[in-house]
Amino acid sequence: KSEIEMKSSMTEKESRLWNAMHRFNPDEKGMVAVSGEGSWFKDENGKEYLDGVSGLWCLNLGYGRQEIVDAAAEQMKKLSYFPLTMNHQPAIRLAEKISDLLEAEYQTFFSNSGSEANETAFKIARQYHIQTGNPGKYKFISRYRAYHGSTMGAMSATAQAIRRVKYDPSAPGFLHVAPPYSYRSLYSGNQEEKDLRAADELEEMIKWEGEETIAAFIMEPFISGGGVIIPSMKYIQRVAEICREKNVLLIMDEVVSGFGRTGKMFGFMHTSNVQPDIVTMAKGLTSGYLPLGATAVKAEIYEAFKKEGKDNHLRHVSTYGGHPAACAVGLKNIEIIEKENIVGRVDALGQSKLKILHDLKNHANVGEVRQIGFLLGLEMVENKETKVPLSDAKMNEIISSCKQKGLIIGKNGDTVPGGNNILIIAPPLTSTEEDLDFINETVSSVIHHM
Ligand code: PMP
Repeated sequence: KSEIEMKSSMTEKESRLWNAMHRFNPDEKGMVAVSGEGSWFKDENGKEYLDGVSGLWCLNLGYGRQEIVDAAAEQMKKLSYFPLTMNHQPAIRLAEKISDLLEAEYQTFFSNSGSEANETAFKIARQYHIQTGNPGKYKFISRYRAYHGSTMGAMSATAQAIRRVKYDPSAPGFLHVAPPYSYRSLYSGNQEEKDLRAADELEEMIKWEGEETIAAFIMEPFISGGGVIIPSMKYIQRVAEICREKNVLLIMDEVVSGFGRTGKMFGFMHTSNVQPDIVTMAKGLTSGYLPLGATAVKAEIYEAFKKEGKDNHLRHVSTYGGHPAACAVGLKNIEIIEKENIVGRVDALGQSKLKILHDLKNHANVGEVRQIGFLLGLEMVENKETKVPLSDAKMNEIISSCKQKGLIIGKNGDTVPGGNNILIIAPPLTSTEEDLDFINETVSSVIHHM
């Protein structure tokens, strides 16, 4: 049914709801999802789609896991709510589990989302420096193209003009530096050489701003929403080293890359010698079953908050942050990830199955294929020599052809004017081999017939 037909067959109440849903984005042609199982969901007409972007890269374990539903229900019956200004068991157990997974001692503050997890990290970083005798360290550095959330602080770290321009001025004290984007780097050399120049730019920025003013550097190990940018591991190691040398805290945003998406439990674990000061998480922490954010802080940082004296604690409260049911879901989610060896599976299938999409790099409109685990980006261009981004119209055509064939894929959403040209594929980590074959066949055939 067309949208118009659907609207005309709606009752008055349904149509009010429809309008309410689309009020802030009137161009959006809504598809109303009704149910889901594994990697697939159904719309209200009964059509089935493979969710090739895991909702918003959050459904690591896919739809409809009964064990997770049961864990939430049992916890709600047992203790329906309790604030984190005092303790409850699921939060304590989940904090301990996160510390184990990070392979070092961390303390965790729970919230409700990735944005909030990053906001919390910023406040912790500033207060840490005050309490360790460096009150001038208040600035944050993030990379262009990065996405760190939608609230004012997280938006200010989100260095994509188009997401900020209507809401600026953003929070003061947020600076941006070039990402390790070797495909469009200003430098020459191989990928590692280009990426290391991006690390040099960070070092330069810290030098010229004055290291005594920089609180923290926030990064995703692999920029996801900003176009699936996978740097050389040496880059990650080098920026971690620069941060250590300059007493700049390293905040690793693992909101997308955490909990197996890239074939390691956390993205930074692809490197050696990198132990972030703060790790932020959400999405895959509960596989999207309930909202939960987490800000894990290395024990050494946490020490500053335990010092004797007035007002050394973090002035930050979240009524629903660390809700008992969300923490119970988080624990069950991690238990399943471990029991089913999801991380090893993503690594293996990412290399055997999704690797097939790398063949598309021979196509005239595919500039680069970037992939790590179940996170894949196809940089689409009009021309391989000029690297002019593929037009919005052609990008939309690819996405809607895939949708017609029953596959939902994403694109780098309006991040840079004229650069909305990266197709994004990030299926649930439990996708079957047949699901992955379906993704490969559908994407390949749509691109070959464009
Ligand atoms: N960080 C990253 C890397 C993200 O991709 C997102 C969400 N897309 C966020 C933070 C913000 O998470 P949330 O939408 O849960 O606030």
